[in-house]
Amino acid sequence: MSAAGDTMTASAVYILLGPPGAGKGTQARMLQDKFGLVQLSTGDLLRAAVKAGTPAGKQAKAVMEEGGLVSDEIVLAILKDRLAEPDVQRGVILDGFPRTTGQAEALDRLLAEAGQKIDAAVSLEVEDAAMVTRISGRYTCAKCGEGYHDTFKQPARAGACDKCGGSDFTRRADDNAETVQTRLDAYHAQTAPLIAYYDRRGVLARVDAMGDIPAIATALGAIVQRISA
Ligand code: AMP
Repeated sequence: MSAAGDTMTASAVYILLGPPGAGKGTQARMLQDKFGLVQLSTGDLLRAAVKAGTPAGKQAKAVMEEGGLVSDEIVLAILKDRLAEPDVQRGVILDGFPRTTGQAEALDRLLAEAGQKIDAAVSLEVEDAAMVTRISGRYTCAKCGEGYHDTFKQPARAGACDKCGGSDFTRRADDNAETVQTRLDAYHAQTAPLIAYYDRRGVLARVDAMGDIPAIATALGAIVQRISA
């Protein structure tokens, strides 16, 4: 993707697809650490906009609290701004984007303008029933964003982040049982069709994401290694 204006210049473009709780954020951060790619989470960008009280953040806040999808217009504007920053040249892992066919088509246009393509769209395959437990127990380090879970991944030393030592942890306002169902419904109605979209383009890979975090990371790492070799 070129860093000028609306275009982008990234040496590699990976997409992580999957419902809320599939592990997109956890795995994107692991790929970032292992391969030097940059995790781009539209959820994180939107939460930052809400926190900063920007006009886009003000419009997005209520929709996010209900578990619906923010408009393509707002998401694309926020993503394009982020893609204009120089660090994306290292290659990007798109986490939580695209989420609609409109967003996927807009991404195709952006990439085509820059003479680039998607290296792989990886579908993290999970069962919905497990997602509520996964989401309800998760929390993150307020300082570095490292993710934890009440049951599946606790810090090695209680109360201290493994990565940065931070002692402040936060839980997302939308990580509750009621909102999770709305988010799963939005995923199936609007995002799941993208699996077929990328399959038709020959860039789809599927990873069983019901196992433990390191096993899923190994499977994803093998895909990145194969493609970047
Ligand atoms: P996430 O952190 O990816 O789970 O996203 C949290 C919330 O942000 C979602 O439930 C949506 O309300 C909103 N959001 C994040 N990414 C997108 C996107 N690509 N399109 C529309 N809404 C999004």
